[in-house]
Amino acid sequence: MKVEAAFALRQKTPIQLATLTLEKPGEREVLIEMKAAGLCHSDMMLFDGTRMEWQDYPLVLGHEGAGIVREVGPGVTTVKPGDHVIPVPIPECGECTACLSGKTNLCDRYYQPPPRPVFSLDGKSFRSFCELGTFAQYITVREMQVAKIRDDVPLDIVCCLGCAGATGLGAAIFTAEVASGSSVVVFGLGGIGLNVVNGAKLNGASMIIGVDTNPTKRQAAFAAGATHYVNPKDHGDNLIGVLKEMTGGGADYAFECVGSAKVLSDTVECTRLGWGTAVTIGILPTGEQLQLRPRAIQEGRKLMGSYLGNIKSRSQLPILADWYAEGKLALDDLISHRIALSEIASGFDLLRDGKARRVVIEF
Ligand SMILES: [Zn+2]
Ligand SMILES: [Zn+2]
Repeated sequence: MKVEAAFALRQKTPIQLATLTLEKPGEREVLIEMKAAGLCHSDMMLFDGTRMEWQDYPLVLGHEGAGIVREVGPGVTTVKPGDHVIPVPIPECGECTACLSGKTNLCDRYYQPPPRPVFSLDGKSFRSFCELGTFAQYITVREMQVAKIRDDVPLDIVCCLGCAGATGLGAAIFTAEVASGSSVVVFGLGGIGLNVVNGAKLNGASMIIGVDTNPTKRQAAFAAGATHYVNPKDHGDNLIGVLKEMTGGGADYAFECVGSAKVLSDTVECTRLGWGTAVTIGILPTGEQLQLRPRAIQEGRKLMGSYLGNIKSRSQLPILADWYAEGKLALDDLISHRIALSEIASGFDLLRDGKARRVVIEF
């Protein structure tokens, strides 16, 4: 079938639109009609020159979205046509060592060679980012990358759960396991940071400080559950000192949602000596190295990695849709702009300028 899709041709080239050919679902594959898709910095890094090590182009972008199953291939047992679903960047095969461990969401199939390319143009194959490519009217994906959700939640809102929601909520709830009554600092109040704030609030944190250089993020941070807002520009070299004072000696937890080595160092340093936990979420540009004062960790702090929130993508992610239905998630406030697929380039401009929280394509 023919579908409109947005793709990157190479690095440092504007995102493009074209009508591509999409393969029908094969063995254990699913055809999804996309209803909404969220724009993420990780997509932008593949055409704005930030992530230069990536080689596999042309690449249909998009790894966050929601849609409805329209067709299933032979052997598919867990979804059927009409099901509302979130296509997920990380598979959950349910059979590998990682899936069976109960310790991680990073299924061994995630790092295996990619499945067959399903998009093409004039006979040339296009790879799909995260094997999804949600910036397309329809996608064909492996069953192990499809999470079935309840059908009474709006797809144009829960579409943000697949990346921003899972990454942010999961980092606070599943990775750091933020304790009730604790203090939390969140660096970067974009789509992911706001979900970290939301997750910390759900777990009962008593002080949640949102840190962002853009003061327009303040209101959204408070709506998501922040109790304080700090603009680093107001404090020059004393940002760490200010955060330590506010938290009575250092935060119990701090989260880096920017993708900057300097901010990650600050994230570790602002936590409390003895037990502070820092979580790295933002993706550093190619070539940036993490620099830490060696004693920062020796002094009893922990630095944890969190990839898509350590939420198992098929068995646990649907819980987030339940939480939204129960009124626990501030996803409505998260979405700042709604656009058509044809407007995707200007949607990324909004994200780049820091004006947007989440930009959602409505198909
Ligand atoms: Zn993302
Ligand atoms: Zn697995």
